Amino acid sequence: MVTGPVVEMLARNAKFATTYQSPPGLVQMATALRASGKGVVVISCSDPRLNPYEVLGIDASLKATMIRNAGGRVFDAIRTLAVLQTIGNPATIVVIHHTDCGMTHFYDDDVKKALFKLSPEEKVAIEDMKFGEIKEGIENSIREDVAILKASPLIKKSTQIIGIAYDIMTGVLTEVVGSKSEL
Ligand SMILES: [Zn+2]
Repeated sequence: MVTGPVVEMLARNAKFATTYQSPPGLVQMATALRASGKGVVVISCSDPRLNPYEVLGIDASLKATMIRNAGGRVFDAIRTLAVLQTIGNPATIVVIHHTDCGMTHFYDDDVKKALFKLSPEEKVAIEDMKFGEIKEGIENSIREDVAILKASPLIKKSTQIIGIAYDIMTGVLTEVVGSKSEL
């Protein structure tokens, strides 16, 4: 049985569905997206204070889709990027990391310690995992992630890759790696 905040969410959905308008089917949408050559994938953090739709003013007129994970780290996003590339052929990937990110406060060792307690029998496997800590500031992690995407054999070389820092206290975006700037 559903309890807690999900009860409220389901109630809100019931209201939402009463005025819902069906979107185009997948094949129709993907065909239009590929023809437009304007698809954008935004990779950003799961932090609820960063709503990329609001921060970037994204609506249906901007052909953007989202990947969100802890820190907005790209090693965690390659599978999804490969799929999105196949479906919608996005022209641009934007990597956004933000100030005061959880990954700048909690490091891989903290996550590993918690996982050791949870699953001591998995200690060896957990030791080898990485969780996307950001120790040298977000400008560095952005440059690192843009470099990973540019070097990835799974990402089309024609894709424009942009790295942007988001100041969560002011709402201001600052380009760190642009389409023309060097790494
Ligand atoms: Zn974050």
